[in-house]
Amino acid sequence: MTNGRALFSCDNCEKTYSSYVSLHMHQKVHTGLTTCALCGKTSSRVSDLRRHLHYVHRLEPCTCSICGRTYSSRSSLLHHRKVHQGATRCSLCGLVASKVAGLRTHLRRIHNLSAEEMMRLVPTRRRYHY
Ligand SMILES: [Zn+2]
Ligand SMILES: [Zn+2]
Ligand SMILES: [Zn+2]
Ligand SMILES: [Zn+2]
Repeated sequence: MTNGRALFSCDNCEKTYSSYVSLHMHQKVHTGLTTCALCGKTSSRVSDLRRHLHYVHRLEPCTCSICGRTYSSRSSLLHHRKVHQGATRCSLCGLVASKVAGLRTHLRRIHNLSAEEMMRLVPTRRRYHY
C-alpha cells in the first residue's frame, strides 16, 4: 500500500500533500471556508479569500476569532457566533446546528417537540419588544 513516503491525501478530491498541515489547510476548500459568499469564487486558502473580499468587494471581512470562518458582514458574523455560545446546541442529543433556526427544525423533526417545549429549550429573545 505505501510507497515509503508519508502522503496525506484528501478524501474529497485527488490532491495529496506531504504534510498534514497542508492537507488540513487545503480541506477548508471543501468545507466552504474559502468560498466568497458574494460572488461564489473559491480561493485556495482562507487568507486568499480575505484578500479577495478586500480588493474585489472593498470589504473588510469579519472573521470569527474562534473558528476562522470569514463573513462578509458583521451581522452574519454575529449570527454565526451563536454557534460558539452554545445557542444552537441541542440539549437532548448534543448536535450543534449552524443556526438557531436549524436547531428548531432539528428539535421538531428528530425529537418531535411541541411548540411549548421548543420555546422552553430555545427561547426567542424578544428584542425591542415592549
Ligand atoms: Zn481536496
Ligand atoms: Zn467575491
Ligand atoms: Zn466561528
Ligand atoms: Zn437533538
